Amino acid sequence: MTFLNVTEIESALIGLNNAYPRLTQLLPLPNPTHEGRRSHALLIRGNPSFRCRPALVFVSGVHAREWGGPDILVNLAADLLEAYTANAGLAYGAKTFSAADVRGIVNRTDVVVFPDINPDGRAYSMGGTAGSNQAMWRKNRNPASGGGSTGRAGVDVNRNYDFLWDFQTKFSPSANPGTLASADPGSDIFHGTGPFSEPEARNVQWLVDRFPKARYFVDVHSYSGDVLYPWGDDENQSTDPSKSFMNTAWDGKRGVSGDAYGEYIPAARLPEVTAAAAVLRDGINAVRNQGYVSKQGFWLWSTTYPTSGTSEDWAFTREFLNPRKGKLGGFCIEFNRNQNFFPSWAEMKDMILDVDAGLVNLCEYATPSWVQVILCWKLAWWHRIADRFLTFWRRLFPPEIWGPYGPWTRIVRRLERILERFSTRRGG
Ligand SMILES: [Zn+2]
Repeated sequence: MTFLNVTEIESALIGLNNAYPRLTQLLPLPNPTHEGRRSHALLIRGNPSFRCRPALVFVSGVHAREWGGPDILVNLAADLLEAYTANAGLAYGAKTFSAADVRGIVNRTDVVVFPDINPDGRAYSMGGTAGSNQAMWRKNRNPASGGGSTGRAGVDVNRNYDFLWDFQTKFSPSANPGTLASADPGSDIFHGTGPFSEPEARNVQWLVDRFPKARYFVDVHSYSGDVLYPWGDDENQSTDPSKSFMNTAWDGKRGVSGDAYGEYIPAARLPEVTAAAAVLRDGINAVRNQGYVSKQGFWLWSTTYPTSGTSEDWAFTREFLNPRKGKLGGFCIEFNRNQNFFPSWAEMKDMILDVDAGLVNLCEYATPSWVQVILCWKLAWWHRIADRFLTFWRRLFPPEIWGPYGPWTRIVRRLERILERFSTRRGG
């Protein structure tokens, strides 16, 4: 075995859908890549009649050279489906989940995996030997901004999402240019020609939008051994809501630590976000004690690591821009403590166990409790009763005979007479 190539990832998803047709749906992503590739995501949903299910959306493969991400997500889907069907639990090294945990996850949540966001980049990177310049390719393969030079092709899809995308306006000129984003097509962090200019980013947007009840979004990257939570543009602060990505008054001030600007995160929300990151981290570390750390994205490395246009920040904006859709936490896992994009397959197998244990741990954490399930059924029951009563009521008293005081024909007739009187008066 070795890393799955682009074709194998697609056939793995189709194969899982064929093997588990009642538990999965294949979701074709709408936007083909520059080289014409079309990708799929896989939805795992047992017991579709349960309607209060939260969704967890897991994506990977956005950076071409980070070879192991898609393998992690394909294995995750296969593990959950196989264990559920066998009514078995799951063991990842020292971390175990019971059969009841697996049943709860599959029956009461939507688990969505989109393993290969950037298939053009992956196909190109895997065409080179590990460590070569070609294998080190990071971006997609869109040549539009490169002026015909192949070395200047490609957009960093993880700087292309609609979160403070216009970094030259939104950030301070002294924000770390090595991590933020770049307007130079030759740069590894070239951000494209506009927010969501790239089909790969639009596919992720489409997928998340399909799940209004998405509560957790996780983008799997390598390397470092960290679990990152928002925000990525500046230090978090919970005291001043006006210091926000939505407020243009702070344009030109973001991305620097220890100054007036910090990105607002409500005081009640911060502990929820850090708790979910800790659930991911603890699930990973329980496998073989790899010492993963959870931290704010802005502090990825020892110095500040400001970023513009990343998926995890974009996902987290939804609850601020559209509170009716509920809370959606955005996270990023940087797997591989050995700081290498191309681990041996033996090392990679261990890391698949690490990260999948973290992701299953988050699924279990997100699974509604039995109390929530009963409340959901009760609510549905009351809705059904109310619907039947309303249908019956409307048949008895059709809306066309309703007067201003309710469906009383007597009042309607009186009103009609009043109107007649007015019209005869006016006529006379
Ligand atoms: Zn990456």
